[in-house]
Amino acid sequence: MPKNRPELRLPVAQNWSCHGTGACCRYHVVTVTQPEWDRIRSLDWGNDVPWGERSPVERAGRDGAGSTLYRLAHKPDGSCIFLDEDGLCTIHRRFGLRAKPLACQLYPYVVVPLGRELRIGLRFSCPSVVGNRGESVGAQESELVRLARELTSGAVKQPEPPPLVDGGPVPNWDWLLAYLDCAARFFHDSPVDVRLQCVRLLAWHGLVLATYDDKHREGPSWLDACAIRALREVGEGALDCGPAGWLACALVRTLAARLGRRDQPLGFGGPLGLLRRATGAVRSFAGVGTLPSLGRFPRVTRRAIGTVCPAPDASAAEILRRYLRTKLWSGQFLGAANFGLSVHDGLLSLMVATAVVLWLARRYAAANASNSVDEEAISVAVQAVDHHFGFDPVLASRAARFRHRWLWRTGQLVPLIVHGGERLAVQLVGRERSDGR
Ligand code: SF4
Repeated sequence: MPKNRPELRLPVAQNWSCHGTGACCRYHVVTVTQPEWDRIRSLDWGNDVPWGERSPVERAGRDGAGSTLYRLAHKPDGSCIFLDEDGLCTIHRRFGLRAKPLACQLYPYVVVPLGRELRIGLRFSCPSVVGNRGESVGAQESELVRLARELTSGAVKQPEPPPLVDGGPVPNWDWLLAYLDCAARFFHDSPVDVRLQCVRLLAWHGLVLATYDDKHREGPSWLDACAIRALREVGEGALDCGPAGWLACALVRTLAARLGRRDQPLGFGGPLGLLRRATGAVRSFAGVGTLPSLGRFPRVTRRAIGTVCPAPDASAAEILRRYLRTKLWSGQFLGAANFGLSVHDGLLSLMVATAVVLWLARRYAAANASNSVDEEAISVAVQAVDHHFGFDPVLASRAARFRHRWLWRTGQLVPLIVHGGERLAVQLVGRERSDGR
């Protein structure tokens, strides 16, 4: 990139190529600007317009500058109006990659502006990202530079970095970049239990908050010193903590009832669909009886979930580690990438999302008669949760921030992660695995 532009930074040890799963074209809402819609409309479609009689776009409000935004319409089965019967994009097939809306060209990448750097994050709702399949991201640098340039062409004003908690901003973008680098390092490859890595991250963040006023001018060396202290003070014994309280676990189940489902932009399936969801939400909160099926998660009892070990196996832990490392390093959990959240609220939302991932993975394993969280279980759970993360305000609203801070203040976030979002432990429910599947 030219010198006056922010430097593009790519995640290491991450691969991706499109494997045509079509997941993005079936489940995501694609927003297009007025010029993009004008461009697509003016393509030489001849007599073969894929949208037929209906309009291919619907109004989706306005952007920050007041210009009209649209979203691509969906067919009755939920897929994008441009997706053909073979699962291919009609725009791409007929006019090439660059004719598609920018959002489609970019997916699953997310460009996060962080002062002098643009960091590339990824959406783990894409199965190929979760599976780390395809070409290395580094090899796609030139295409990412082009896309980032197109995306940021109108951005002239450098925004302020998000605050640490509330109120004033952190000292500068460099401080925030150092914070992100340090946070991501907790998840570098190692044989350490990924839940312990989360606990250490939270302990480090707590130390940063507690000493911020006196020490923040010391910069990265102080962040590193806090990290060394967290690593020294939080040993494996942290995994022996008791379970979180009933209400905290009910919050995880209620969130899972929403995040486990990949909502299509078709609404809620009418009054009956709404009623089913309301009943499911109540049952999930109460946690009694059989939990209703949820997207890719079959119905299952909580007792069965309790028989699944909350520690992911080695390959599952590696996926979760890569997910958290990418989110933390790229800043894809705070500021503009996550509804303007502060560093603190963003980190809490990511950790609560992690508790939900672990609970959903246990749920998936239980429904498949397994007592361990393996690669498949964690992949399905990460895909479901990350479909919403940063795009659904359920983890970033004022109420969500209040809930997350309550979990933090009462010390329940750690046991939620350690126990995979459940109060029921393996040894308590023993053999009862067969009912309600
Ligand atoms: S426009 Fe093409 S790439 Fe974008 S969502 Fe629709 S089918 Fe998929």
